[in-house]
Amino acid sequence: MADSVTLTSGEVRRRLAVVRDRIAAAGGDPDMITVVAVTKGHDPNVVEAAVAAGCADVGESYAQEMAAKVAALDVDARWHFIGRLQRRRVRSVAGHVHLWHSVDRPELAAEIARRSPGAEILVQVNPSAEPDKGGCAPGDVAGLVARAGDEGLVVRGLMSVGVDGDDDRTRRVFEATTRLADELGLVERSMGMSADLEIAVASGATMVRVGTDLVGSRGEGGGAR
Ligand SMILES: *Cc1c(COP(=O)(O)O)cnc(C)c1O
Repeated sequence: MADSVTLTSGEVRRRLAVVRDRIAAAGGDPDMITVVAVTKGHDPNVVEAAVAAGCADVGESYAQEMAAKVAALDVDARWHFIGRLQRRRVRSVAGHVHLWHSVDRPELAAEIARRSPGAEILVQVNPSAEPDKGGCAPGDVAGLVARAGDEGLVVRGLMSVGVDGDDDRTRRVFEATTRLADELGLVERSMGMSADLEIAVASGATMVRVGTDLVGSRGEGGGAR
């Protein structure tokens, strides 16, 4: 791993201020929009640097990696699980996840309910029908929300991922996500990453998931000290 760059909490703090400025410039209220610092692929000490910088919410994409970080660290963070999730991996992180963002099928909801009764989740929707993204079809969202509720889960909102390099389609994905959430009376919309943060905020995001622009790209400066 390239570690010529040392990521300090001061540097993360500076980058967080830039992200908050970007949220404001896009018409959002930085005090109302949760910034989830995505630390996947980074060493545990990057999580420590982010938390010390004021990032109370951290996001991880891989269950094994998150479980290892939880075990290695004693940090006061809310862990968000944002990645595609295999049912058999749910158990390894179940006690530690504050919010599951990527619930996209009934079997996954059932397993989360079994391992973490009453957990808070988002349903991931894939309005662009992009393959390899995860997320259920818009027409399946209402059914999955109802099913998750029947399982005793608390559905807080919806999550979606934009279309790489295509602002117009990304905007349509995020607007569709907000529309669906409104129709279902769901408050949270987890949308937007480093590259499409502004589009997400303008489209009604209540949570953004920012990795690269907060803690660097994976392998760029993973070695925080
Ligand atoms: C990696 C990832 C992010 C963060 O992406 P950046 O471009 O590094 O900001 C956000 N959401 C999901 C689902 C991710 O996998």
